[in-house]
Amino acid sequence: MSGGKAISLEDLPGVGATTAEKLRDAGFREVSSVAAASASELKDAVGIGEAAANRIIMAAKESLDIRFRTGREMLEKRKSVKKISTGSSALDNLLGGGIETQAISEFYGEFGSGKTQIAHQAAVNVQLPEEKGGLGRGAIFIDTENTFRPERIIQMAEGLELDPDEALERIQVARAYNSDDQILWAEKAAEIAQSGEVGLIIVDSLTAQFRSDYAGRGTLASRQQKLNQHMHTLQRAADLNNLAVIVTNQVMAKPDIFFGDPTAPIGGHIVGHTSTFRLYLRKSKGGKRVARLVDSPNLPDGEAIFMVKQEGIRD
Ligand code: ATP
Ligand code: MG
Repeated sequence: MSGGKAISLEDLPGVGATTAEKLRDAGFREVSSVAAASASELKDAVGIGEAAANRIIMAAKESLDIRFRTGREMLEKRKSVKKISTGSSALDNLLGGGIETQAISEFYGEFGSGKTQIAHQAAVNVQLPEEKGGLGRGAIFIDTENTFRPERIIQMAEGLELDPDEALERIQVARAYNSDDQILWAEKAAEIAQSGEVGLIIVDSLTAQFRSDYAGRGTLASRQQKLNQHMHTLQRAADLNNLAVIVTNQVMAKPDIFFGDPTAPIGGHIVGHTSTFRLYLRKSKGGKRVARLVDSPNLPDGEAIFMVKQEGIRD
């Protein structure tokens, strides 16, 4: 991993002022988004050949120290992974101990299934000391649907006997009004996180703005490309700063032309392949919620039952 020092597009060999400008216009504002791009995306964005595009991508990877790592190096990195408790031990167990750092955890499900509640709870719990299931760090909440509620933070903090004022103080909230705004806030969050004081970045909801901004059929490819870049910004912030990322996602209310399954999360394979953990939430009898782990690199699939209470997420 490289340090937090910002490298600009112009620092890449083969990228002059004009190319850099074209890249930025196409939404590749950071070296990290160039590093995660495909040659065909860059070709189209800048109007260069495939070989030149590949050279720029490799240069971007090198400048960020993205390279092969040995299994042993990977094990060392895994050892530094920490976990944030969700407030429910059943849900924590399903997640192998809690919400992991260095990863993106995606919670998806229908309205009222508890996605935003889990996001609020994690924003409080991350502040707890490590022995109590936190990281002793603050949270950044990128709110795209105007659902952040300080009142809920107060209730949840009180439920843990934390000072509610302090809990609120340690959560930085930004309201994103469209998908470009959301992308910029994520980049800003990645920058702020370099201080080491942020243990969690939340994007609630990941896909709602993208869905409305790219509504037509012809815009799907650019939507997916932007989403992909956005997810990489978040993943990189998670890796570099050993922090957790939570994103929420709706399910298809009505199957659209691209996806037939009404319980499928929005964003399709792009979001699915970039999230490390995917949890499907649904409402059950008596106010219960069921979480199903649908995709994890190292944990068995399974289910957990939890409740949303006044004091927060509980068993
Ligand atoms: P959407 O897709 O609409 O964003 P969501 O999955 O984010 O939905 P949440 O906002 O997390 O849904 O869940 C809302 C539900 O949480 C409410 O319907 C209610 O059951 C529960 N809830 C919210 N506040 C409280 C509270 N103070 N006490 C108990 N339960 C609450
Ligand atoms: Mg919500």
